[in-house]
Amino acid sequence: MGVLTGRTALVTGASRGIGRGIAERLGRDGARVAVHYGRNETAAKETVAAIEKAGGSAFALGVELGVPGDAEALWAEFDRHADGLDILVNNAAIGNTRPIGQLEEREYDEVFAVNVKAPFFILKHGMMRLRDGGRVVNISSGLARTAAMPDNMAYAMTKGALDVFSRDLSKVLGSRGITVNSVAPGIIDTDNTAALLHGSPDGWAKAAALSALGGVGEPAEVADVVAFLVSDGGRWVTGSWVDVTGGSLT
Ligand code: NDP
Repeated sequence: MGVLTGRTALVTGASRGIGRGIAERLGRDGARVAVHYGRNETAAKETVAAIEKAGGSAFALGVELGVPGDAEALWAEFDRHADGLDILVNNAAIGNTRPIGQLEEREYDEVFAVNVKAPFFILKHGMMRLRDGGRVVNISSGLARTAAMPDNMAYAMTKGALDVFSRDLSKVLGSRGITVNSVAPGIIDTDNTAALLHGSPDGWAKAAALSALGGVGEPAEVADVVAFLVSDGGRWVTGSWVDVTGGSLT
């Protein structure tokens, strides 16, 4: 028996990276996990297999986010597998936007559509599926609170908007005992940061130097914090912005 036994979780963008780390951790804690993916079905099936190998239960659902009707499509697919849920983790996002002088309007719209609009409408259409006492975690970024990488301005702006969403939604859902929090990672070793960390000989060392702890994070480090927030122990934490940057903002 895990601390989440009997609960159902949906993690968006769980085919790879931080989302996979969160899905695997929630699966180990006993939740039945809906492993959402965009294009990478093979990777999503690997996440499902890893959860099952560890004794857990999971299923994959593939829906592209950032396009009209995405949230309704996601829930229609979810409803084919499960009857309501207890934990929603909005993790899927795109990054690596370019400097303001080079960013096209289409790219700006795309990063907002995936990173802000999709979580908003996933909640709009998902609130009634979330059971009382449930949990919502939105994966933000340390970049919402530092200008250390201004070339990622549009991406950072999406995370600032997501944080306001977490804050205000906590008031909307609080009367049902549902908590809503933003979890903000620093630099984590995923496909998303491969160029930054591995694209130059000193990439890793430069990234590690940003952290007070002198390292680069792993998906498990974010997953452990999410696991606490969605557990019973996290019941009195809501509307919060949780810094998981390894001290990169100090
Ligand atoms: P990855 O790029 O490694 O993985 C992204 C995941 O999101 C994949 O599962 C991908 O699915 C899914 N996804 C992306 N776009 C779409 C889309 N349009 N429709 C559906 N699914 C989509 O990201 P990370 O693991 O690095 O990041 C996860 C979260 O953490 C994001 O919110 C990110 O902003 C945040 N973050 C990451 C940091 C880092 O250093 N890595 C730092 C701070 C925050 P598929 O592959 O199947 O298409």
